[in-house]
Amino acid sequence: MSYFRENIERMVGYVPGEQPIAGERVIKLNTNENPYPPSPKALEILHSLDGEALRRYPDPLATRFRKVVAEVLDVPVDWIIAGNGSDDVLTMILRACVGPDDTVAYAVPTYVLYRTLTQIQAGRCVEVPYGEDYALPADSLAESAAAVTFVASPNSPSGTAYSVEQLDALAGRLDGVLVVDEAYVDFADGDCLDLVRRRENVIVLRTLSKGYSLAGLRLGFGVAQPALLEGLQKVKDSYNVDAVAAAVGAAAFADQYHKNANAEKVKISRAKLQADLTAMDFRVWPSQANFLLTRSPEGDAERIYLGLKAGGIFIRYFNQPGLDDKLRITVGTDEQNAALTGAIKEIR
Ligand SMILES: *Cc1c(COP(=O)(O)O)cnc(C)c1O
Repeated sequence: MSYFRENIERMVGYVPGEQPIAGERVIKLNTNENPYPPSPKALEILHSLDGEALRRYPDPLATRFRKVVAEVLDVPVDWIIAGNGSDDVLTMILRACVGPDDTVAYAVPTYVLYRTLTQIQAGRCVEVPYGEDYALPADSLAESAAAVTFVASPNSPSGTAYSVEQLDALAGRLDGVLVVDEAYVDFADGDCLDLVRRRENVIVLRTLSKGYSLAGLRLGFGVAQPALLEGLQKVKDSYNVDAVAAAVGAAAFADQYHKNANAEKVKISRAKLQADLTAMDFRVWPSQANFLLTRSPEGDAERIYLGLKAGGIFIRYFNQPGLDDKLRITVGTDEQNAALTGAIKEIR
């Protein structure tokens, strides 16, 4: 006997990367957080908030935050929808577009939440395998004729980014919605925002969790033509962006200088970490994100992961076919990365 819908009973549920116990001192390179602090201007706003700012319900549409985004990205404000993290925008898309037995397509491995959210809707996942080079399997995705197709660009856990031309061609072959998840765009060489101007079936997702060092705040947004956002607005939680997130997030997004400066530091550290791992004979996939996918010469990923964890260094190990010989390592500060490579040398 179960209280749950059949699909909920069957599904596993999303398992987030492990969080250290409060007070435990670890080097945390497992969930792609930014190693640098958020914008001081955002923290100033945070510290200035008083009871009056919290007494009332927040603006259901987070208009002030969206205006800042619109100005920075040079898109109309009604092309932007804000969410409690970009995960929340993903939820809205699935709620609005996917019912029982509707198809959702994406290449794997990628962000596991796409599967979880599809299963919650009792939708049907079509998971197209990526090859070793993580090239986009555009034909298979297009042939899936899905209600929603996801492409994370840069992808996680590979760090691979896809071009505007590639995604534009894919969007043109789809009757359904193409979601381009740009959670890691701040560390990439390009972006696909221009697609939303060209294609009415594309939504581009962004988050303040990675580039802006605000994973704990929970703020993200989607950019699409207003007709596509209309359906999402109907299904979103009424007050999905709280007053603190909206105010702090607006200041953080306005401070592009701070974000870009930190992203540059991360990119320099990424190149150094890649070189150090390569010098240890690890294979490292080229990454445009703030993490590296890597394989030790022996493919003993679980052993390295557990050895590092015992020494207080968290990285991501995925116990699943095709990935269980690889590790995903968030790029930390140079000091953290040196501690990591030093610890790996000792374990081996
Ligand atoms: C981190 C991440 C997100 C979402 O992050 P939020 O914290 O919910 O904004 C979305 N997609 C991918 C691929 C991610 O890695």
